[in-house]
Amino acid sequence: MQKLDTFDMVLFGGTGDLALRKLVPALYRRHVAGQMGPSSRVLAVARTNLSREEYLAQIETTCRKHLSGEEFTEARWRAFAAQVDYVRVDVTDPQDFRKLRAALEGRDDATRVIFLSTAPSLFTLTCDNLAAADIVTPKSRVVLEKPLGHDRASADLINRSVGAIFAEQQIYRIDHYLGKETVQNLMALRFGNTLFEPLWRRGRIRHVQITIAEQLGVEGRGQFYEHTGALRDMVQNHLLQLVCILAMEPPTSSDPDAVRDEKLKVLRALRPIMGNAVQNKTVRGQYRAGAVSGQPVPSYLDEAGVAADSTTETFVALKAEIDTWRWAGVPFYLRTGKRMTARRTEISVQLKAVPFLLFRDTPVDKLVPNVLTLRIDPEHGTTFDFNVKVPGPVMQIGAVKSSFKYGDFFAERPNVGYETLLYDCMLGDETLFQRADSIETSWAAVDSVLHPEGGPLPVHGYTAGSAGPKEADALLQADGRAWRPLADEHTQDDKN
Ligand code: NAP
Repeated sequence: MQKLDTFDMVLFGGTGDLALRKLVPALYRRHVAGQMGPSSRVLAVARTNLSREEYLAQIETTCRKHLSGEEFTEARWRAFAAQVDYVRVDVTDPQDFRKLRAALEGRDDATRVIFLSTAPSLFTLTCDNLAAADIVTPKSRVVLEKPLGHDRASADLINRSVGAIFAEQQIYRIDHYLGKETVQNLMALRFGNTLFEPLWRRGRIRHVQITIAEQLGVEGRGQFYEHTGALRDMVQNHLLQLVCILAMEPPTSSDPDAVRDEKLKVLRALRPIMGNAVQNKTVRGQYRAGAVSGQPVPSYLDEAGVAADSTTETFVALKAEIDTWRWAGVPFYLRTGKRMTARRTEISVQLKAVPFLLFRDTPVDKLVPNVLTLRIDPEHGTTFDFNVKVPGPVMQIGAVKSSFKYGDFFAERPNVGYETLLYDCMLGDETLFQRADSIETSWAAVDSVLHPEGGPLPVHGYTAGSAGPKEADALLQADGRAWRPLADEHTQDDKN
């Protein structure tokens, strides 16, 4: 890995859930990997009045919890902690930014990564106050956590106001899915091998399924989730970004804009889901009481901070279509939900059937389709389902799998995506971050589903611990298909 220049990571929201669970442990790992030189610093910023020692005690607890025993050692912790400081700033008070300015005194030559891990409603004000306090230097970068707004109009507003302070190449809009190994491997797989390109098109691919299933519920963040829902939380960003990487044309180079231009073309080619199509191509669901991994869990409506008559969706399934020569007629079925039977993020690409059944005078009357599955979470790897002859005198065909697991080939370490992305933004590589035009186009794609012309769609209840509402099954059944099972590895048949 490339050595990083001296940097200051100014972490707004340093006491928040994301910082404590993900960002600080990821920074610790960067430190352990030797990428945080002795002059680099982490400056955590939040509203709570804490001394440096109190803050360090807080992050020590969470680092112990979220890092493995092997990773966390006293010596490493002391070395990392020596480079961490805390500054109390209420971002709504311009005077408080003077303290931050003072803490950064004499360090304007260092790369300054300003990470806004706060509610997006604070982004504009924070950037205005940073500029007014003279904290934005030519070597500054600002990282914006998702969700960037709650619809296209609010995203435009944030992009415009942040864009008034920072140049576009200084703005890093994060989607941590793009930092995950298997997501990046998708690019390597597609553009590092000749095997896939001839298959990667209509004519060869029948359909694509992308699933992000969680077993977790709202985890005490009911109030936040009430105003978000699965479409905003998962589809607008993670799922559409996966579609982009999967469907984009080969970029002309690995230059960040060459890659991002191709991804944008996919978003622009998404057929708008509007009018009757909203009802025909989308399904919303909300979990009811049930059991996940044998543990009883409450209904979404009984979660703290959730209205008793809430219609916020905790599950969404939709059929996306891409109007390009490569993808016309190939549906991309997307689904995501909370409190599902299993935790699983995967992309499965189902190839077309053979043109005719050669073995018709034999006991073979059906072949399972070839399916390439890219597993992103919890395990990292790929699986290919194909057919072989069952050994013996009679022609019989058996479905088999060929699997690749990262752990079998590489000394794998869990990477939630933030580590790669933090490294990239310190380095100044924008490839895995979203540009303003991409954010605005993806919001435009979901806005019509969020606000259908005939009023909101019904939200269908599903039992916690299931695979979602039956209406989501019907969405695929209407096309003669079925979702890949969540709980096991069997391939589902697909009628031709
Ligand atoms: P959170 O737990 O509610 O933390 C919010 C942070 O913002 C706290 O550090 C809080 O400081 C700070 N803050 C609030 N008002 C402030 C003010 N006026 N001045 C200065 N600091 C202020 O939120 P979170 O879960 O960490 O999420 C942060 C952002 O990341 C949100 O945009 C969220 O949507 C996004 N995100 C979160 C997750 C996740 O897993 N948590 C995942 C993806 C994206 P005090 O504690 O001192 O008040």
